[in-house]
Amino acid sequence: VLIRGYIQRDRNGQPLRISGTSMDLTEHKRIEQMKDEFVSTVSHELRTPLTSISGALGLITGGALGEAPPAIQQMLEIAHRNSLRLGYLINDLLDMEKITAGKMTFDMREHSLRQLLDEALTSNQAFASHFGVSCILRDPINVHVWVDGLRLQQVLSNFLSNAIKYTPEGGQVTLHCSQPNAGHVRISVTDQGPGIPPSFQNRVFEKFAQADASDSRQKGGTGLGLAITKEFIERMGGRVGFDTAEGQGTTFWCELPIVESATVAPDQGQPRL
Ligand code: ADP
Repeated sequence: VLIRGYIQRDRNGQPLRISGTSMDLTEHKRIEQMKDEFVSTVSHELRTPLTSISGALGLITGGALGEAPPAIQQMLEIAHRNSLRLGYLINDLLDMEKITAGKMTFDMREHSLRQLLDEALTSNQAFASHFGVSCILRDPINVHVWVDGLRLQQVLSNFLSNAIKYTPEGGQVTLHCSQPNAGHVRISVTDQGPGIPPSFQNRVFEKFAQADASDSRQKGGTGLGLAITKEFIERMGGRVGFDTAEGQGTTFWCELPIVESATVAPDQGQPRL
C-alpha cells in the first residue's frame, strides 16, 4: 500500500490541515507483471521466425543464389538491414525484461581491458564507415577488469553506436581511458554531436527515453540501450555517467573496478585508426 501525506500551511508556515491518500498497489503490480510477461512471450515468439528471415536475406544479399538485378539487390539489402534492426530491438526488450524480473545472469571473469576495447572498435568499424565517421582509441590503460566480457561489449557498442550516429559526417569519435583513482578505470566515448539538451539530461538512463520523438525514426533505436547499459555496469560493480555541452558534443563513460592481482607489461599499443 502506498501512503502519501500532505500538510497544508497558512501564509506564516503554520500547519492548517493534514490530509492523506492511500493506494492499494497489489493490482498495479499484477498488471505490471502481466505486461512484462506479455512482452517477454511476444519477443520470444518473434525471435525464432525473425532469425530465419534475417538468415535467408543475409544469404541472398551475400550472393548465395547468384547475382540479383541491382534494383532487387537494393530492396533485399533494405529488408535485411531492417530485419537485423528488429532483431536488436527484440534482444533489447528481452534483456530489459530479464533485468526487471531479476533473471539476468553475469559471467564474471578477468579480462584484459585493451583486448575488450580493440574488439569494441573492430565490431563498430563498419557502422562508423557507413556514417563517414572515424573512431580512434586514445590512451588505453593496460589493466585487467573483472566483468562479463559480452555484456561490457554490449555497453561499449551502445556508447560507440550512439556517438557515431550523432557525430556529423567527417567527424571523429574517441574511445579513451583514464584512472579516476587507484582502484578504478574509466572508459569514455566522446563524440562531436549536438550534445544532450538540459531538459532531457536527467532522463537519459530511463527506459524508452529519447530526447526527440523523431530520434527513433531518424536514427533508429528504441531508448532502451542506455537503460540496459546502466543496469549492466552497476551489476558489474561500476557506475555510468556523461558530460555534455550543447553544440559541442557528449562524453559517455563507465567506471569499473581494476583487478589488483594482474601484473601486466606496459602498454605497447599505438592509437589505432
Ligand atoms: P536509442 O539510441 O536506442 O534511442 P539510448 O538509450 O541508447 O536509446 O539513448 C537514449 C537517447 O539518449 C537517444 O534517443 C538520444 O536522444 C540520447 N542520446 C544518447 N546518446 C547520445 C549522444 N551521444 N549524443 C546525443 N544524444 C544522445
